[in-house]
Amino acid sequence: MLQLVAYDRMPRTTIRLTRRNIFLRDGYTCQYCARRGTPRDLNLDHVMPRSRGGPMTWENVVCSCRVCNLKKGGRTPPEANMRLLRRPVRPRWSPVLALAFSPGRPAEWEPFLASLPGARELQTLWEQGVGTVHDVMAESA
Ligand SMILES: [Zn+2]
Repeated sequence: MLQLVAYDRMPRTTIRLTRRNIFLRDGYTCQYCARRGTPRDLNLDHVMPRSRGGPMTWENVVCSCRVCNLKKGGRTPPEANMRLLRRPVRPRWSPVLALAFSPGRPAEWEPFLASLPGARELQTLWEQGVGTVHDVMAESA
């Protein structure tokens, strides 16, 4: 019984596909011109346009500034003569991992944490100051 209760309170291990999580994954950086922005300056861009059946998936949606978003319009990146900084993928970090990386973590965890998939991505997020445990947790509940 106690174990079940504890288990229910465990954070989810999958990361939800949301606007904010895509911004987090892409470091609040336009994936076309590399400009960083705030959520107000940024849009979600469908790499394969929605009008042509492009799905809302980790692999088809990226963070884009308004200028690039407008410039690209309903075209694919090659058609618009634009280039993605990197291929979009589902993040390997998870809420559990985000929690483990929160500031004040025991130093003894470092070797273990460093060996986890997604550790480097998450470390970079914290260093850039764009993510907090609460951001990730709130978007994953
Ligand atoms: Zn841009």
